Amino acid sequence: MVIDRKILYYFSLGSFLSLWFCSCEKEKMGVDEKKRIVYSTIEDDMGFEKLPPSKPGEWLYHFREKGQTFEEYKAEVRNIKTEKRSTIYIQPLGTLSEMDKEILDKMREYATIFFFSSAMVNEPISIPEGSFNKNRWQFDANKILLKLEKIKPDDALAYVGVMSEDLYIEGLNFVFGLGSFDKCTGVYSLARYGDDYKIRLKRALKVMTHEMGHILSMNHCIFYRCIMCGSNSLPEADRRPMHLCPVCLEKLEWNIKFDRSERYRRLIDFYKQLGFEEEANFLSNLQSISE
Ligand SMILES: [Zn+2]
Ligand SMILES: [Zn+2]
Repeated sequence: MVIDRKILYYFSLGSFLSLWFCSCEKEKMGVDEKKRIVYSTIEDDMGFEKLPPSKPGEWLYHFREKGQTFEEYKAEVRNIKTEKRSTIYIQPLGTLSEMDKEILDKMREYATIFFFSSAMVNEPISIPEGSFNKNRWQFDANKILLKLEKIKPDDALAYVGVMSEDLYIEGLNFVFGLGSFDKCTGVYSLARYGDDYKIRLKRALKVMTHEMGHILSMNHCIFYRCIMCGSNSLPEADRRPMHLCPVCLEKLEWNIKFDRSERYRRLIDFYKQLGFEEEANFLSNLQSISE
């Protein structure tokens, strides 16, 4: 595959631009294995699965990511929940199908539980003018983020646009979503998630929590199989679990402040209600080990 030099440009400037994209084309660079192995030596007795060495095609095989420890997170965090900034706003962009409206409602409920914060779905607005690229038949995620930054509510912990149309950024063939590290904004697309309700819903919930993690200044995870792991394709995104690993959970808990047991209890109820038995069982097992 021919590599567009812009891919590397964007990635190397990723932290400078304070944006996280979550899909890409490919370039072999390799992960910082030394750091990852150090963390992988922590024997996990809670059932969290350590991330195995990456394979060609997978995110970490192609992108050099150093990971982010809890201490590094505390030093780098730029979006902390406060009393004045505590609400997650989900902003429908453009026309959504009845199925996607239902998915947005579940997204709101999940955001409330996962991030232990109030969340609401706003009235739809049109997709920002000028973001459509007629040569690619896709929407420019960066242009949409710039617009969202301007209309973000003052009390937003996060302001995230959701749309049915496909997104891209320059240099990449598409992105599932784009999250800003320090502007409290993000945008996700449901365009590539298929027509089966349950599968589409699960993918939508996963992209929401993953991008929200970035909006809360969390980098990609390199330690465990975790919702914060980067993904290079839909199959890799599907392999990613819905939960946060112990490293990433500690970051969220420090930022948001919640009762871990109460959060797990609510998540288990939510997963059961949706028929996500595997996820419910995993957290139930965690709960029983912790008690
Ligand atoms: Zn990501
Ligand atoms: Zn993690």
